[in-house]
Amino acid sequence: MQFKDIIGQEAVKKRLTDAVKEGRISHTQLFLGAEGSGNLPMAIAFAQYVNCLQPTDSDSCGECSECLKYQKLQHPDLHFSFPVSTNAEVKKNPVSKLFLPAWREIVLESPYFNLTDWQEKIQTENKQLNISKEESTEIIKALQYKVYEAKYKVMIIWYPEKLHTSAANALLKILEEPPEKTLFILVAHDTEQLLPTVLSRTQMVKFPPLPIEELQNVLAEKENLDEEQALKIAKMSDGNYLQAIRLIKITEKQQQFFDLFTSWMRMAFKADVPGLIKWADDLAALKRENIKAFLDYALHIVRESLAVNYAGEDATKLNAQEEQFVQKFAPFLLSNNLPDFLNLLSEAHYHIERNVNPKVVLFDTSLKITKLLRVNKNRV
Ligand SMILES: [Zn+2]
Repeated sequence: MQFKDIIGQEAVKKRLTDAVKEGRISHTQLFLGAEGSGNLPMAIAFAQYVNCLQPTDSDSCGECSECLKYQKLQHPDLHFSFPVSTNAEVKKNPVSKLFLPAWREIVLESPYFNLTDWQEKIQTENKQLNISKEESTEIIKALQYKVYEAKYKVMIIWYPEKLHTSAANALLKILEEPPEKTLFILVAHDTEQLLPTVLSRTQMVKFPPLPIEELQNVLAEKENLDEEQALKIAKMSDGNYLQAIRLIKITEKQQQFFDLFTSWMRMAFKADVPGLIKWADDLAALKRENIKAFLDYALHIVRESLAVNYAGEDATKLNAQEEQFVQKFAPFLLSNNLPDFLNLLSEAHYHIERNVNPKVVLFDTSLKITKLLRVNKNRV
């Protein structure tokens, strides 16, 4: 990982590279920022920079033997510690080293992820993750030997907030006075959840939210958004890259649902039965969770049609294309069919949740909607 791989945070990069050049590297640092701030990749890039054999003024070389090992996160003097719990493979005494392959994978895929992503990666379901007393013993053990080959031995602790109190207490001494040529980097997100005794032993480096313009540029470039979309998402995500990626995913789903809903209504309106059968088959192929989410979306659009046309409310909950659709669609929903329409969607949702065959539910609902839409066809 190099500094150039990290989005923004130029001031932090400068502060860190200056410290190295001036030979005043702090031995226990706390990189504090939101999950999308880049504090984890920065910790790795900093450790690589410190150990690089031919660093430039602003970054590691990316080519020397140390950099090559660092880039694969496989350097004998680079250690990670992070919250874990038992899962299907690790049935007792979970410690970080047992999860290293998964850790390398998730970090190398994208170092911007959060605790939930990690939990999903290692399939621990709803169990609380933590850094245990056993893990603190592992940490101390890993650092007790001399440096193998690097300039510095580095221990990166991701989420020190999850240190069990007994683990934190066991680490106080080594955090206060690490062995020679050893760096601790604690990658934290919320100081309020950190033990004061740990906090007081670290030097803090704060990661501010990314400026909107910077985030906009990154989104336009990396996520292929047009300028306007990128700006909108950047503004909505509070300068947090991870949050921005989440919003993009939701927007994509919203577009998919909009397309599904509008084609559904058009086919129901035309009583296009073969089309509806295919539509129901296609939607039924999705995961049950997604079908439920789609039905929630359909309910939302129908309720908004009601609000816009009858209560005269602004369509603030709709985007431009949804609003355009609702203007044309709402006249077909009147007091003689609207309550039934809403009931049909809720019932479909209920049946999907209770594991009724989705093809049957969706096709049956389609036929009923076809009848309902006919009620007002001649009036409009
Ligand atoms: Zn290098």
